[in-house]
Amino acid sequence: METVNKAKFLIVYDNNRFDDRLKVAWGFGCLVNVNGFNILFDTGGDTEILLYNMAKLNIDVKKIEVIALSHIHGDHAGGLMGVIRSDDHFKVYVPSSFLSGFKREIKSYGCEVIEVRDAIKIFDGVASTGELGIAIKEQSLLVNTSMGLVVVTGCSHPGIVRIIKKAKELTKMRIHLVMGGYHIETTSRDNITSIIHQFQDLGVKKVAPCHCSGDLVKRMFKQAFAEDFIEIGVGKTIEF
Ligand SMILES: [Zn+2]
Ligand SMILES: [Zn+2]
Repeated sequence: METVNKAKFLIVYDNNRFDDRLKVAWGFGCLVNVNGFNILFDTGGDTEILLYNMAKLNIDVKKIEVIALSHIHGDHAGGLMGVIRSDDHFKVYVPSSFLSGFKREIKSYGCEVIEVRDAIKIFDGVASTGELGIAIKEQSLLVNTSMGLVVVTGCSHPGIVRIIKKAKELTKMRIHLVMGGYHIETTSRDNITSIIHQFQDLGVKKVAPCHCSGDLVKRMFKQAFAEDFIEIGVGKTIEF
């Protein structure tokens, strides 16, 4: 996997507040800019909120080349159609298990649909893990930055540890940062501690949980990772 010289991750949709000018709503969306190439990973639940936040952040929708959806849930895929309705230049990467009606609708707006089953390169230094999971299939985004691999997750329904293991297996790289929704459903402190230990054993340097991660999970990761915990919410930028 090529290394990206410049990478910027900007949270454009999240239920955690960061930049007061922006609207906070349940869901997730992250704009990833690598060497000037723009990928919107997830679109939140509501097009109007997504477009409002992107306008406030001076993001030109026309300059987004690729939209990738982690999984079919409305809080990640709901904003898509309103964005592509008025513009047909997007390449849209979706897990191949998506309903055919959904894929047809994307194509009806003139956009290209790339159905992701196995891991796939999206751009130099940027790849998808491929769809993982059984009940709810999901893809995560991998970016090879100068600091190491950054893993961006939507909701982590296949399991956050499973996703990290897959990322390592695919890239054989050191994991610098895991950001996005961790969706750890357990409220048992022992279970969360065990997940934190697995992160550490897998060599994850920094963590930035948001969206569906939950307050207790965030608190415990913050305690365990100390200065390597990054507080994120809508409007937060992380640059390499
Ligand atoms: Zn979900
Ligand atoms: Zn979600």
